[in-house]
Amino acid sequence: MSDTDPSKGENPADLFRRQRDLILMASGDGIYGIDVQGISTFVNPAAARMSGYSVEEMLGRNLHELVHHSHADGRHFPSCECPIHEATRDGKIHRIYDDVFWRKDGTSFPVEYVSTPIWDDGRIAGAVVSFRDITERKRAEQDLRDSEQRYRAMFDGSNAAGFLIDAETCFVLDENKQTCALFGYSEAQLRLLRAEDLFVGAPGEIPAFWRKVQREGAAETETPFAVTAEGDRIPVRLSASRIRYANRTGLLVLATDLSVRREIEARARALQSELHHVSRVSAMGEMASAMAHELNQPLSAVMNYLAAARRLSKTEFDGESRTLQMVEKAISQASRAGEIIRSLRTFLDKGEAETEFASPYDVIHDTLPLIEPAVTAAGLSLSCELDPDAPHTLLQRVNIQQVLLNLIRNAAEAMSEQAQGVINVACWSSNEQIWVEVADQGPGLSQDQQAKLFQPFNTSKSDGMGVGLSICHSIISDHDGDIHAENRPGGGAVFRFCLPVITPGDRA
Ligand code: ADP
Repeated sequence: MSDTDPSKGENPADLFRRQRDLILMASGDGIYGIDVQGISTFVNPAAARMSGYSVEEMLGRNLHELVHHSHADGRHFPSCECPIHEATRDGKIHRIYDDVFWRKDGTSFPVEYVSTPIWDDGRIAGAVVSFRDITERKRAEQDLRDSEQRYRAMFDGSNAAGFLIDAETCFVLDENKQTCALFGYSEAQLRLLRAEDLFVGAPGEIPAFWRKVQREGAAETETPFAVTAEGDRIPVRLSASRIRYANRTGLLVLATDLSVRREIEARARALQSELHHVSRVSAMGEMASAMAHELNQPLSAVMNYLAAARRLSKTEFDGESRTLQMVEKAISQASRAGEIIRSLRTFLDKGEAETEFASPYDVIHDTLPLIEPAVTAAGLSLSCELDPDAPHTLLQRVNIQQVLLNLIRNAAEAMSEQAQGVINVACWSSNEQIWVEVADQGPGLSQDQQAKLFQPFNTSKSDGMGVGLSICHSIISDHDGDIHAENRPGGGAVFRFCLPVITPGDRA
């Protein structure tokens, strides 16, 4: 001890008291003592500073009444329930991590405290209370919770199934909602799975993918499939990257469902091939148009020669010979061929669909020769009930022909398994509407087919495109008409469309 030492000459009890006071003064924690009645016997400056009182204001007071009178929600806090006072009764240390003390100005602050009984000669003399303002700790905890919730929301808000796996064991540690939705497993089930159980690819592809992630820290591929709890396979883009968290290494895995994209790609490919088909058909159409034009002249010549031959044989054989009969038959066949060629030319020559006033009867009449050969070749026949007086209306001839051809072709295809069958085409009208229907004797329409009949890409045929009826629907809608289908009571399907009667006056 030096000469300047203030403790020099002090008796040990005074020295101890002074050192204890120095410690109490210096402590950053609030410290106070109470007797068994709860009256304060000492208060350190930190306790007074935190409570907004002076040491003098706190000394000799019931501190429960002063700083601990209410709960955080404002409810009264009876001292008989207070753990600080309990220490003076049960002689045990009471530690509380989340409570509030009240300041002089009426505000509160969060505290953690410990109340330790003071023993004097085998009896409890009171308790010493040490408390700490935990505002900062609580704010840090809240920040942590907010941040956790923010990242959880981002993780869950992602479109991709995202999950974290342990880099060594490859077991799933955490996952977002999309992961459960994509794979069809609950969170608990996923925790029992390893990343390699969740994907399949070409032989060796998946192990090679994980090796690349381990080696290079990240990898991505678009060829594997996610294997669901049901055993289904869903095409996915799989990406994984190594991340460090809490002194551990994990792999963050993202799997994006590609089924919709693959479906769109498949449709685009199908459309592409349909487009090739259409361009082939249109090239053939041009050829057919040229041929029809070229054939027209020789056919007219044949007709002329036959007419001359008929006149001759009538005069030479008095109209009774076998030759004359054969010439008559040849004339009827040649005029039928002429009719087919004329219809073909009308159908093919109209590049742009022109709108005109026409009789549906004429349109149907011109269309049937185009499809009749295919119907007959399939062993089927066409029957017609057409109203020749059906009113003229505003229509796009080529497009209505297109609708008829589609419906009759579908009817013939529906009966392709049958040895025989009749396709009935009918047309009738009222003052406002013209009705056209194509009825077959095929298997009819299932309920499922009826629901999506006019939707594009709906087909039950192995080589079908499923666009015919959706085109028919849009053509009839363009004419302000309506098209629908139903099953016939006796079997088979009937497709019926109606067009509004439009007169030149209406158009004006
Ligand atoms: P595609 O003929 O290329 O399949 P469509 O759009 O013309 O395309 O027809 C769609 C589907 O509607 C057909 O695949 C078939 O299942 C059904 N369908 C159309 N017409 C008939 C019919 N007359 N009888 C039975 N089913 C039909």
